[in-house]
Amino acid sequence: VDVTYIPHLDEEKMVKGFFALSSDISDRKAIERMKDEFISVISHELRTPLTSLHSALKILATGRLGTLSTEGQQMLGIADDSTERLVRLVNNVLDLQRIESGKVIMECQVCNAANLMIQAAEAMQAMAQQHEITLVKQPQDISVWADADYIMQALTNLLSNAIKFSSPGGTVWLTVEQEQGSQNLPKELVFRVRDEGQGIPADQIERIFEKFQQVDSSDSRKKGGTGLGLTICRKIIEQHNGRIWAESTPSGSTFAFTLPTLEWVTISHEVGIYAS
Ligand code: ADP
Repeated sequence: VDVTYIPHLDEEKMVKGFFALSSDISDRKAIERMKDEFISVISHELRTPLTSLHSALKILATGRLGTLSTEGQQMLGIADDSTERLVRLVNNVLDLQRIESGKVIMECQVCNAANLMIQAAEAMQAMAQQHEITLVKQPQDISVWADADYIMQALTNLLSNAIKFSSPGGTVWLTVEQEQGSQNLPKELVFRVRDEGQGIPADQIERIFEKFQQVDSSDSRKKGGTGLGLTICRKIIEQHNGRIWAESTPSGSTFAFTLPTLEWVTISHEVGIYAS
């Protein structure tokens, strides 16, 4: 049952009471559950044959089973790229579905921000080299309360986008700082991934965090995108009680997210926010 409370005001606009509006949403919930199950089953069923297909194509590309003509190699390259995209799409759908279902519990513990950044930058180094991008990180020895695996996933997603949407010769910066969000509240950590790429139009900045949304789908498709990366990032950061946003100009974009510092966690434990 979904309950909405509507305030009842008197002539002086003072709240006199509330109307409670309750509606039965069992059908809607049942449909949502069916949709989630359907997506999950289809994605699982797709993953196994796709992974075999991908491995088979990789073996063919080695030339061990016979040499291919130049045209044959080109065809194989196209098939391999498309399979990789499909594997990524299926994995993204499954990741998002798992996080959205609420079944994923962030296993937060004390992590070192510098370690997270170094690992994320190392994981993306090969891609950066391939795109001729210089990756600059400014790690800081600060403790943070986070699920390291999921934060790594968010950081590598943002770095992958920054590299993908930059031109060769560009630089991508990965930084972390302690900042005062609101007055009288403890500082929070702000991670930033900044690039010198093509930027994002102002009217698209919020939209790109929604499922399957891309600024230019043909360009993004060429770059192997699924339109789910930022949605996954947002879910991960929100599950950490953080915020994520983007700022952009035609000469580059910055994606930033916050995470609670240990000071925050200590205070919040007292009022039960981070009880789990
Ligand atoms: P994708 O898999 O397409 O990269 P994302 O959800 O990660 O999916 O990003 C959605 C879209 O946001 C991208 O397709 C692209 O249009 C835009 N975008 C994301 N990051 C950047 C960036 N650093 N610079 C320019 N555009 C970006």
